Amino acid sequence: MKSTTLFAAIQKPPEFAVGDKWDWPDYASNPSYKLDNIETTAKNPKFVSYIDERRKSHLDEFEIIWKFYNHFDNHPDHRKSDLLSSCGSNAIFYRHIETGEVRICSNKCHLRWCPMCANDRKCYISHSVAEWLRDAKYPKLLTLTVKHIDEPLTDQIENLYRCFRKLRTRKDFKSYIAGGIWHFQVKLGKKDKLWHPHIHFVADGKFFPRKQLQRMWQETTGDSHVVDVQEIHDPDRASKEVARYAATSANLASLDFEHGCELMKCMHGRRTCGTWGTGRAVSLRPPKLDDKKLWENVGSWYNVMTSQDTNSKAKAILKAWRLHEPLADGVSMSFFDTFDDDLLDDGPSRSPPGKYKGLFEKPIEKALSISTQNSISNQF
Ligand SMILES: [Zn+2]
Repeated sequence: MKSTTLFAAIQKPPEFAVGDKWDWPDYASNPSYKLDNIETTAKNPKFVSYIDERRKSHLDEFEIIWKFYNHFDNHPDHRKSDLLSSCGSNAIFYRHIETGEVRICSNKCHLRWCPMCANDRKCYISHSVAEWLRDAKYPKLLTLTVKHIDEPLTDQIENLYRCFRKLRTRKDFKSYIAGGIWHFQVKLGKKDKLWHPHIHFVADGKFFPRKQLQRMWQETTGDSHVVDVQEIHDPDRASKEVARYAATSANLASLDFEHGCELMKCMHGRRTCGTWGTGRAVSLRPPKLDDKKLWENVGSWYNVMTSQDTNSKAKAILKAWRLHEPLADGVSMSFFDTFDDDLLDDGPSRSPPGKYKGLFEKPIEKALSISTQNSISNQF
């Protein structure tokens, strides 16, 4: 079997339905899938696909989210549930030719509610916000809430956003706060089943008493004065908290079907986080990779993982990736030189636009995305 055929088989995930176990073809033991190169034919019962590796901490959540997307899918060629299912289905190890650093590049769905992509965003935002907070003066974590009412969620969100914009243009508010990073959150009350939308923000500026902010918020909204203000003493801890909220604006998987659908519809195309003033220095999405030419493909996840017990190159690649050690020049298991460009470029690819985007990752447990990513604020 030619290598290109095998790669195509790996690239396209098998049909998947909610409730099914995700079973990849048994490439390692089925003779018809064997490659010509003896190094890749070793059986390895420990093989876990990259898609499963990424998904293993989100299995229950993934199935529920998949159902929601499947419910809204109405075009056979633009199925977001398929996009979600294939998130992370292609993964390539890359080596930086100057430093020897090894990272993984894989396709991502970039869907707003994808738990795996949300996790990537969380890692990036946490890192980015922590740096900004270390330089901020009197950093604070604030929460603005509005009166609980039995109104459509869309109306409540629009009212909250309008009031928050108004608050930020007030002279007295600006005299205290020089800038910040905001993110929207919504919860469903367990008892009253009412939506509780609120805005969290981290602010940089002068010290001010909570009562001042309560007064300003009351004057701005006309009927709400509930605010929370917390001083930040530990930027790293606070940045993780911010990232947790900023990565996703609600726990969609915890909602019943009716409320989940309402939330997805209301949030479609809506911005959920942003920056202003001095906060603009913070990037909430990974910057474009400007040194693409310095990264070389050293092997697919499949080849490296299935050969790790028998192939010294595979072993070296994995060791360098897991331990953050440089990989020596010339250590490579790359047999597919044409495919990596598709993952690296934002330009035309073999897959539908937006479906496959490059995203470099450090080892999974310490993922910090540094590559290209779609807008995190206008997705469904
Ligand atoms: Zn995803």
